[in-house]
Amino acid sequence: MASPIDLLGVLRDGLPGRATDPRHVVIVGAGIAGLTAGLLLKEAGHRVTILEARNRLGGRIYTYRGFAGRMYGEFGAMRFPRQHRLGQHLIHERFGLATTPFGMEDQDTFIHLGGRSVRRSKFTPESFDFSLPPGERGRPPGDILRDAMQPLIDLAAEPGGWERLIERYDRYSLLGFLVERGVSEPAISLLGPVFNLEGRLHFSLVEWFCHWHEDVFGDLEYIVDGADTLADAFAPALLRDTRLGAEVQGIEQRPDGVVVHWRDGVGAMASVAADECLVTVPFVLLRHMEIDGLDPDKWFTIRNVYYGRAHKIFMQFSRPWWAQDYGITHGVTVTDLAIRNVVYTPAGQDPDTGRGVIIASYAWEQDSMAYSMLDESARIAQALQDLAKIHPEAASTFEFGVSHDWALDRHGGGIGPLFRPFEMTSSFYDDVVRPVGRVWFASDACDRRARRWIEGAIAAAVKNAYAIHAGMRNQLPAAEERA
Ligand SMILES: Cc1cc2nc3c(=O)[nH]c(=O)nc-3n(C[C@H](O)[C@H](O)[C@H](O)COP(=O)(O)OP(=O)(O)OC[C@H]3O[C@@H](n4cnc5c(N)ncnc54)[C@H](O)[C@@H]3O)c2cc1C
Repeated sequence: MASPIDLLGVLRDGLPGRATDPRHVVIVGAGIAGLTAGLLLKEAGHRVTILEARNRLGGRIYTYRGFAGRMYGEFGAMRFPRQHRLGQHLIHERFGLATTPFGMEDQDTFIHLGGRSVRRSKFTPESFDFSLPPGERGRPPGDILRDAMQPLIDLAAEPGGWERLIERYDRYSLLGFLVERGVSEPAISLLGPVFNLEGRLHFSLVEWFCHWHEDVFGDLEYIVDGADTLADAFAPALLRDTRLGAEVQGIEQRPDGVVVHWRDGVGAMASVAADECLVTVPFVLLRHMEIDGLDPDKWFTIRNVYYGRAHKIFMQFSRPWWAQDYGITHGVTVTDLAIRNVVYTPAGQDPDTGRGVIIASYAWEQDSMAYSMLDESARIAQALQDLAKIHPEAASTFEFGVSHDWALDRHGGGIGPLFRPFEMTSSFYDDVVRPVGRVWFASDACDRRARRWIEGAIAAAVKNAYAIHAGMRNQLPAAEERA
């Protein structure tokens, strides 16, 4: 077997050698995957045409700039883990974007359960009565969770731990494993809101565990001028090769090439012929696309990669009361209210305005569904009512609110892919990433290790660009999964 390619090396140094047989590659989607692949292929001497349905670059990198002054809100990606080496390379070395820490823990934030708020700094196992059984009563929730995870922690420390973890535990949901480990129902009711687990309980244990164990949220940064500046940094190289407002409807595969059909904003159809087509749109959206030549196993993945719901509701206030009155500068208040999580985002503030913005509600799955059914004004009103239960000042200082529901975003298709039990080890995952003939697939669903992260999308882009450049067919290069 060929040795795995070094994803960071390829991203940094470019695809190996100039193209001896330059290809014309149509890339569907100008999110971070499409942009990364486009840049690598173009710099290696190939011709790229990017078709993007929206009127902007970035996809699920989406910075809202409708607040006062220079304030902004990240509706999509906002936190960049320093352990994500590919993303760090693009942000720092390639594009030189200024960043600053995005702290997730502030002891001045609250845990709000059953109608009562307790500062994290004051939180004890007795703060809320969940009627825990003896053995769990009086124990810090973090200890209960850690004890339950001990077998996975031990396995992860062994050589080849990641592969063995997947093999042994892929069949578990997080809930199934907690129950099997003897964690009581009352304890699960407590751990859910405190560690933001409720939206995760029925999904892959291994995927959740890896994020938790590797403390992916422990050392984060944000891009000072907004995450959209990362996508826009590709513009000088790629905007002229990009058709915006072009919604791809179908891909015809022929023995010697592809023809990609797209529709503009007023319904006019157009086509472009090319040698290869790299699809980077979320799989769930491919249900609306006609693609020739895909086999039943590939269609099975397109039907079954699960995309989660999520929304963010931003609010602008006439003064930053969270800092002035509570000493909160960052971090998250967790609640069992419909708003779920309040994020005091350090990103997007502009002290010159005297104002501030926060994420009044960031929720996933069922919690987000409760907002999907409301119209915009009802969403804002309901979220403000909840927020004022924790922070009464919110009501009198509220100026403006705006929400984005990713499940209702025609070109977003939800927050991103979530593994369910049995999906990491079976042929399912291999079929997700597998190219078919001249149609290639790169998106954040196409990386196992950093799925649903910008890192995963970049990794998938590098692998696919490498394969196209190397003239591979129906396969991708082996790559180190921990890149
Ligand atoms: C709320 C939220 C928070 C997140 N937070 C973080 C975070 O903090 N850190 C992090 O690393 N990641 C985060 N992510 C995940 C990250 O945003 C994604 O993993 C990454 O942006 C995916 O990039 P992509 O190129 O694979 O897909 P996308 O960004 O979805 O790009 C696909 C592109 O295809 C376009 N498209 C769709 N349909 C068509 C069509 N028919 N024709 C043409 N074009 C089409 C779309 O408009 C889009 O531009 C978050 C995502 C969301 C939604």
